[in-house]
Amino acid sequence: MSSTLGKTIARAEGFLKRFRERPVAHLIDGKPDAGSGATFETASPIDNVVIAKVARGGAAEIDRAAKAAMKAFRTGWAQTNGDARRKLLHRIADAIEARADEIALVECIDTGQPIRYMAKAALRGAENFRFYADRAPGAADGLSLPTDTHLNYTIRQPIGPVGVITPWNTPFMLSTWKIAPALAAGCTVVHKPAEWSPLTATLLSEICLEAGLPPGVLNTVHGFGEDAGRALTEHPDIKAIGFVGESATGSAIMAQGAATLKRVHFELGGKNPVIVFADADLDRALDAVLFMIYSLNGERCTSSSRALVEASVYQDFSRRAAERMKKIKVGHPLDPATEIGPLIHPRHVDKVLSYVKTAEAEGATIVGGGRTGDKGNYVAPTLYLDARNTMRIAQEEIFGPVLTMIPFADEKEALSIANDVRYGLAAYLWTRDVGRAHRFAQALEAGMVWVNSENVRHLPTPFGGMKSSGIGRDGGDCSFDFYMETKNIAIALDNHKIPKIGA
Ligand code: NAD
Repeated sequence: MSSTLGKTIARAEGFLKRFRERPVAHLIDGKPDAGSGATFETASPIDNVVIAKVARGGAAEIDRAAKAAMKAFRTGWAQTNGDARRKLLHRIADAIEARADEIALVECIDTGQPIRYMAKAALRGAENFRFYADRAPGAADGLSLPTDTHLNYTIRQPIGPVGVITPWNTPFMLSTWKIAPALAAGCTVVHKPAEWSPLTATLLSEICLEAGLPPGVLNTVHGFGEDAGRALTEHPDIKAIGFVGESATGSAIMAQGAATLKRVHFELGGKNPVIVFADADLDRALDAVLFMIYSLNGERCTSSSRALVEASVYQDFSRRAAERMKKIKVGHPLDPATEIGPLIHPRHVDKVLSYVKTAEAEGATIVGGGRTGDKGNYVAPTLYLDARNTMRIAQEEIFGPVLTMIPFADEKEALSIANDVRYGLAAYLWTRDVGRAHRFAQALEAGMVWVNSENVRHLPTPFGGMKSSGIGRDGGDCSFDFYMETKNIAIALDNHKIPKIGA
């Protein structure tokens, strides 16, 4: 072990000490809350040794949190003016930046994500707060729609307390992405973080409180999906659910929320194609293809998990991809040289590895893969070559460092393969033909298309998926459309005839 790595581990241990020493509590109405006393354990993917016991919430804790959120909504937060919200959200961003090292190190140990990505993810969390802080003063803005007889105008008002349910991949960044616009809109929040990576959610709620967010505006209840998550989606005081996770869980949440007519926003799974035409800048395309599947451990909703490569360049492109993939450094998440860290959980490793047998049975060529390291959830990157789109490895979200490569003959076939999947989150397209780039991008069934680029997020743009990949869009003003009600007010100019009955 290098001395730099040793020092980083020691720094991480310093931040983890408090989690090791006493159970992690919920945060309800501005106070740590141990709930019923029931706990669950979270282990590090590095060695599967338990790092913390975490309060296991259920219906009772969710009810307390939802009531606290309703009280805070009615008695202050929704009425706080936009400029005051702006200042407070900037203070939260400042505090995130001040603790970015702690957030990144705790996240790496809890999730197995490499530090080279998590350092930036913590700062992205601060950026999310800053972006929505600046939009808070304009969140209520509407339209003026006058007629000869009436002045119609619209305003937006926060919908009420909302539930935010997040997954285990890049949990800190993803949570800020949902929570920052909700707070900017004037909503209060009950957050249920994922049970496999709960620690940085507690840091976020602490940071918000210390920055001056009033009690009850952001509440965090830890626990499992089937009890705390379910109770949140069924609670009558919770007006909307912002959910990020698997498509099957989205369906369950929709059913659970039906009785209370929940508004839902879903960001779900993906099996995103990257289409490489022979005329593309193949060096840049190769860099992007590898980055978009093997960074973040492949545990990324927008990963380019299906590479469709034009037949005339397929052999060369796939050979170069395999050579580069074999050199990817799998290692300790806190080592700055590490490109792939351990996967989140032994059960997830089993799922990812189960596809090796599937690929074998389906007749794909397998390069790399398998367990590596003597402990922990380390898996070598994998490439499935010469696949067909009907194979399970081309249709199912594996959510690991696993790329399925498929040759195609022409544009028509490429489009048909790209769209022949239940998901429709993101797509990536590589070509130098401008006409084809526009034609193809418009025909792709995906909520987001990047042409000659990896995923580069610009916060004002809409983010979300079609088909089984989601409902609704985040980003820019789209987030306010979800977290707010649009109200139309019609004022008569007193010059119209009112129909008389019974006169
Ligand atoms: P998951 O659906 O298993 O869990 C997500 C969250 O939902 C967790 O907090 C979990 O406790 C909760 N949950 C589970 N069952 C529930 C229920 N019945 N009611 C309420 N809550 C419930 O997802 P995961 O395995 O944590 O995350 C990986 C998935 O997330 C992948 O499919 C990935 O593509 C998706 N994801 C999508 C995006 C996007 O923007 N589209 C971003 C990140 C991750």
